[in-house]
Amino acid sequence: MNRGTIRIAQRRLQEMGLYRGAIDGLRGPLTNAAVEAALPQMGRDLPRGWQDWPANRRFTAFMQLHCHEKGIDAGPIDGLMGPQTREAVAALERQIAGGVVNWRDIAPIPDAPATFPHERDVPAFFGPPGTSWENKPAGMKRVPTPWRMRIAWNLSQHRSFLWAHPKVADSLAEVLEKVHAHYGEAEIRRLRLDVFSGDYNPRRKRGGSAWSMHAFGIAYDFDDINNQLSWRGDRAAFARPEYEDWWRIWESEGWVSLGRSRDFDWMHVQAARV
Ligand SMILES: [Zn+2]
Repeated sequence: MNRGTIRIAQRRLQEMGLYRGAIDGLRGPLTNAAVEAALPQMGRDLPRGWQDWPANRRFTAFMQLHCHEKGIDAGPIDGLMGPQTREAVAALERQIAGGVVNWRDIAPIPDAPATFPHERDVPAFFGPPGTSWENKPAGMKRVPTPWRMRIAWNLSQHRSFLWAHPKVADSLAEVLEKVHAHYGEAEIRRLRLDVFSGDYNPRRKRGGSAWSMHAFGIAYDFDDINNQLSWRGDRAAFARPEYEDWWRIWESEGWVSLGRSRDFDWMHVQAARV
């Protein structure tokens, strides 16, 4: 989907009261979450199992429904970008460019989050934290890792998924796929990006009473041995230039490295701003 199409979607989501982000034509986590909330409200039966579709398929389904709202037949709501849907979306774009709605007149909301929320807004955006290993946040998903993870505290033990809050699962999957495509498995292993040091964890922040971002299922730790909590960039492995692309990939999806933003806790990445 091009940026013009995504802007049209963001505008409609904003009208529905489901989207407070910028009308910037970039499909980030806020847009994906709004699409997920919008689909069941759009007055047609969705196929069974649409909740399990990846974010891009849900987005296409949203555009199909939006076409129908505007009197353009996009065919069945299947989330697949076939010829009929492609033509319908093009017709919708022409209709909008023709003056029915002009997205260029719609100013972005100032200070709207363009990506994941600030830490203080995490409970409002993600809902309550999990309070025990059994009582995880609602709807937590297992995101398969494209490479096998070694457990940091016992490297002969393995894991092949990460726990993820449903609002970050698609984004996490996208990051992992990009990392895998960019580095390949041998390099991932050499850089110790396969060393798993933590995901969901029902605990409070170190030295505080607030819940850790880990308790919401929106934070991950990698290779804590070479990136110890108090180490600064002169010592932490992940501060080295060969990890620049690793962090750029996370950041392109809106994730925040505490190392890169605070020069602290270089093992840690989270779906919340600081
Ligand atoms: Zn952490």
